[in-house]
Amino acid sequence: MYLKRIELHGFKSFADKSVIEFQPGITGIVGPNGCGKSNISDAVRWVLGEQSVKSLRGSNMSDVIFNGSEDRKAQNVAEVTLVFDNEDRFMNVDYNEVELTRRLYRQNNEAEYLINKEPCRLKDIVDLIMDTGLGRDSLSIISQGNISTFADSKPEERRGMFEEAAGVAKYKKRKLESIRK
Ligand code: ATP
Ligand code: MG
Repeated sequence: MYLKRIELHGFKSFADKSVIEFQPGITGIVGPNGCGKSNISDAVRWVLGEQSVKSLRGSNMSDVIFNGSEDRKAQNVAEVTLVFDNEDRFMNVDYNEVELTRRLYRQNNEAEYLINKEPCRLKDIVDLIMDTGLGRDSLSIISQGNISTFADSKPEERRGMFEEAAGVAKYKKRKLESIRK
């Protein structure tokens, strides 16, 4: 499984529909300060279910909607779609491509979530990605803040992060749950 494409429309600085294609392997995103690099990783986290406005660097969720510029009026809707290549069925659904979409309307703060263009609940997206290690609290996205947390943490905490990254943590959690029962 890998992230094949991101489509953004009305999300932060991406006023017009923008499509970013990725190949398997490592991709670097470079550009001058303020050009929108971090907005791309915000978009990824947003679709994967990020609910913390602060970690999306705003004060309201509607701050993710393009808010206008000198020559463009603000948008009323933000929409981001992540397209994953799922030929290896790493995600537990029988599709070669999985499209996850999140939309937000300015007018009523109404959110919409879609899997392969079918409306769904946020929970459906969260459940789908939980076992892939892509979840909101996973270490699949490491911000600058995470790096200093990692460097400053105690050995046991650091071990926990390795376990999370290696995919062991979820089995430990399940084991604890079954012992408790
Ligand atoms: P740096 O190299 O400094 O980290 P960056 O490439 O990561 O920069 P971003 O933080 O992704 O830059 O983008 C910041 C830009 O996005 C700013 O110019 C800001 O005005 C713009 N921006 C953020 N939210 C919105 C919005 N809702 N509408 C329009 N523009 C926005
Ligand atoms: Mg940045």
